[in-house]
Amino acid sequence: MSAGADVPVDLVEVFSSAQGEGLDVGRSTLFVRLGGCDLRCAWCDSPGTWKPSPQGRIETARGSGVFEPHDNPVEAGAIVDALLHLEPERHAMVSLTGGEPLLQPDAVRALAARLGVLGPEVMLETHGLHVEGLRAVLDHLDVVSMDWKLASDVRRETDARGGTPAAFHDAHEAFLAVARAAPRVVVKVVVTQNSTDEEIDAAVARIARTHPSAALVLQPVTPFAAVRERPSAERLLALARRAERKIEDVRVVPQTHPLIGAL
Ligand code: SF4
Repeated sequence: MSAGADVPVDLVEVFSSAQGEGLDVGRSTLFVRLGGCDLRCAWCDSPGTWKPSPQGRIETARGSGVFEPHDNPVEAGAIVDALLHLEPERHAMVSLTGGEPLLQPDAVRALAARLGVLGPEVMLETHGLHVEGLRAVLDHLDVVSMDWKLASDVRRETDARGGTPAAFHDAHEAFLAVARAAPRVVVKVVVTQNSTDEEIDAAVARIARTHPSAALVLQPVTPFAAVRERPSAERLLALARRAERKIEDVRVVPQTHPLIGAL
């Protein structure tokens, strides 16, 4: 057995689709979604990933939306063996996503090492707070796509509901300082009606001083759960204009997978 093949993974699902967010939107992507999350974002569209579940699932044919169950935890080597029929080598990217994948750094490392050699770029999609987990996997990643969470809409799992969560800026800045060693870094800020200019300006200032060549994606929230409205185009464009004074590559990119009805 090769090293790491027996690492246990709490798996949610594996499926083939097109990347629906950020800089790589539209590229063919094999998603490997891991279970467990320690944040609670107001707009989260995958609350089913918050707790590891007894079973994960793997799509039976590329883009079919039909899945075969697998009992958790599944060994990393067994996941890779079970997804080979989805032709990872014919995808532009593999996305290791969640939930929060860095709650399982050994699993991310084992999967990234195996999937990267098959050809696609390996992207980690993370909430961008677990710096030690990132250190453990960074040498196997081509792209780090991290969120910069705003306390106006996001709380830690352990925060009391209705309280005022502490800002995430310090933890994100420490994470970005490590992530900048990756070949490519994308920082995504989900903007809602609750997001304040002050917290977005603070995020932009910290990105600019820590890794100014990282791309910044301002993503208008996709209404879901308690979130009913998205911010106006006027506001988004004004935020982008301000961010461009400090960061060279700033984009306004909404989620596209809900538009085409894809997973
Ligand atoms: S970090 Fe991701 S999975 Fe966790 S609550 Fe936020 S949106 Fe949902």
